[in-house]
Amino acid sequence: MKQEYFTLKDILRKMREQDAESRALIERAWEFGQKVHAGQTRLSGEPYFESHLATTAYYLADIGMDAASIAAGLLHDTLEDTQTTPEELEKELNAEVRFIVEGVTKLGKLKYRGLERHVESMRKLLVATAEDIRVIIVKMYDRLHNMETNNFHEPERQQRKALETMEVYVPIAERLGMGKIKSDLEDLCFKTLEPETYKETEKILIQKRSELEDRLEEEVKDLKKGLGENGIRAFRTETRVKGVYSFAKKLERKNGEIALVYDLFALRIIVKNIEDCYRILGVIHSVWRPIPGRIKDYIAFPKPNGYRSLHTSVLTRHGITVEAQIRTEEMHQESQYGIASHFGYKTANSTSAVVPIEWVRRFFPNLIKTGVTKTGEAPRWMKDLTEAQRDLPGFKTLDQAFKEDFFAKRMFVFTPKGDVIDLPVGATAVDFAYAIHSSIGHKMSGVKINGRMASFETPLENGNFVEILTKKQGTPNKKWIQHAKTANAKRHIRNAHRETKKSK
Ligand code: MN
Repeated sequence: MKQEYFTLKDILRKMREQDAESRALIERAWEFGQKVHAGQTRLSGEPYFESHLATTAYYLADIGMDAASIAAGLLHDTLEDTQTTPEELEKELNAEVRFIVEGVTKLGKLKYRGLERHVESMRKLLVATAEDIRVIIVKMYDRLHNMETNNFHEPERQQRKALETMEVYVPIAERLGMGKIKSDLEDLCFKTLEPETYKETEKILIQKRSELEDRLEEEVKDLKKGLGENGIRAFRTETRVKGVYSFAKKLERKNGEIALVYDLFALRIIVKNIEDCYRILGVIHSVWRPIPGRIKDYIAFPKPNGYRSLHTSVLTRHGITVEAQIRTEEMHQESQYGIASHFGYKTANSTSAVVPIEWVRRFFPNLIKTGVTKTGEAPRWMKDLTEAQRDLPGFKTLDQAFKEDFFAKRMFVFTPKGDVIDLPVGATAVDFAYAIHSSIGHKMSGVKINGRMASFETPLENGNFVEILTKKQGTPNKKWIQHAKTANAKRHIRNAHRETKKSK
């Protein structure tokens, strides 16, 4: 079977920026990537560059990312999988592409081991480590393609990757408002993690869809007529069927009663402006019967991740339950691509800057504080967001925001295997050792920080790799209490001493 891949032409055609410079950047990235990855294949036997890297880049172009991100998509594995150095990358492409690729490479080193208490740390860390939001977005689409092609791996690895994606990437996509990729990732994971339930749910969905699709089309004609009669002509509609995973979850909550899942089908009506949203809501309720208690105004009250739309569930003339989602084009883009939509979609009277994307302030304290990335320039999305915050109730100066920030109080350090340990700022190797396990703490005989021997009292820093050396016969030293910052470590050391005293 001949496999079709996305070509350079496909990517250039999809790309939002069409100036000569942007196009040239993509062409250089393509040529360079193809050269350095030449001969590499995926487990499926497919050529690595043409399959994985081209697809990742194409996805990024498709959602409207800037040229630097697309180029980074083409080269995101280049530092990891070829002899290329960061300096070469900068010389061949530019500093921005190098920065994003280095960020993606760094994120790739984080290991997920499914330890309950580390999951949230991992999420935060992933976001905190990426000093540029584009790093996360590239990583997210890299993961999407990896999940799409996951079936070539050992079953055990498939499971692990699916679990990691579900617990780490999906929540981040959710928080970034990236509804489309969130749903895609969920379905891919669900298929791997619970194949039986997935199949059953999918069957119901397909059956329902074939049952209702034609009828729904008739209904939409009705509505269009109604809208026309009310003088509303500038709109477009699209239908969406709930994702398999999201449907399964909803079904579970409704005890298997399909009839109670009102939003199995959503009819999206995309209009020019907010006034039209509310007008259309009125028309819909005159054409179809609203289900009481199902009107939600996410325009006046956006969801925490910034999602905006008007929702209403209705019973159509032929008795189909549909959720109408009314929104402007801009809200639509945001609901699909979340933070990523801020790169692409801009209108003359753009209102996207007032979407309170609180998480950025929480997750990127350093960026917000300085307003500058390592490349020396604040990206537009961030300027927009910091600007936008000035208009929000409860706006704090950036410095205040920073001080209150979680990351001003917590830090993340790694075990040699890449596990993430979440510690308060000022913590030492003593805290680290006891955070892993008390038996490691008790038998501690030395510590290496980033590969170098260090003393127990050295304060650890965000991102340090810490290795604890142990002695079989080791016992905790009482002095360690003075070096410990966490209650956990102090308690263990104290308890150990009480016990040794008692046994004497
Ligand atoms: Mn990759």
